[in-house]
Amino acid sequence: MSPALAAAAPGTVKVELRDVGLRYFGREGETEALAGISLGVDAGEFVSIIGQSGCGKSTLLSLVAGIMAPTRGEVLVDGRPVRGPDPRVGYMLQQDYLFEWRTILENTLLGAQIQGLDPQMARDRAVMLLSRYGLAKFMDHLPRQLSGGMRQRVALARTLCTDPDVVLLDEPFSALDSQTRIAIADEIADILRREKKTAILVTHDIAEAIGMADRVIVLSRRPGRVKSTHAIQFASSGASRPSPMQARNAVEFNGYFNRLWQELEVHVEG
Ligand code: ADP
Ligand code: MG
Repeated sequence: MSPALAAAAPGTVKVELRDVGLRYFGREGETEALAGISLGVDAGEFVSIIGQSGCGKSTLLSLVAGIMAPTRGEVLVDGRPVRGPDPRVGYMLQQDYLFEWRTILENTLLGAQIQGLDPQMARDRAVMLLSRYGLAKFMDHLPRQLSGGMRQRVALARTLCTDPDVVLLDEPFSALDSQTRIAIADEIADILRREKKTAILVTHDIAEAIGMADRVIVLSRRPGRVKSTHAIQFASSGASRPSPMQARNAVEFNGYFNRLWQELEVHVEG
């Protein structure tokens, strides 16, 4: 089935959190990371979640990925409770976590191998994705032979090789310099939209959040709660959505930026 057909119809809720809370229990006692989080993400929607460091953003993604279970409430994908890591959900992290001793192609195949997918089909798909992302010539290279931006594209190819409907991105560009970061954000936003993925991006970069998403959700300081939700629309750019780079020049951009900046209550701690 093609990715477009596999994705649910637009307007249906793909990911849902119902009154979710999470507490960590450690030697130093208890940390309440998330409290009373309720939100839904529609099929094909791109949502950014912003919040200050330590407010529970990575924790929230781990719950959707099924790596952890909530202390209270429920996480659902396609209306079904998440009970553990799920092939419908792909996860892309801050570091690219490529294995230095595996070639680019072998790295791309990692998730598919873990899931036990048909090796030939997985290989065909990996080759197709790498070619599409301009990496055909590098399939037999090792990660250290690639630039940071190329490595991040390999990490995306690996995430998409298993054809998940939902893609979670946890500050995926933080390791990149600022120019590469904008270029790669453009490419990745374009790829995810074209493949009709449902995407949740976690970032503390307000411009990146606005540029990539249909909607930005602001979390409060720990314990993270949904503080506000902002629909992002660029009417000035016509029918087609601007790329994250173009969005920075759209007339609506500064208004969104200032509102989100205030919502985040950024203070320099003294
Ligand atoms: P963010 O991604 O927004 O920076 P995290 O989700 O990583 O925040 O963490 C939220 C809070 O939970 C932080 O205060 C962090 O220190 C704490 N925390 C994260 N992981 C653990 C853990 N495994 N055990 C105890 N506390 C944790
Ligand atoms: Mg984090």
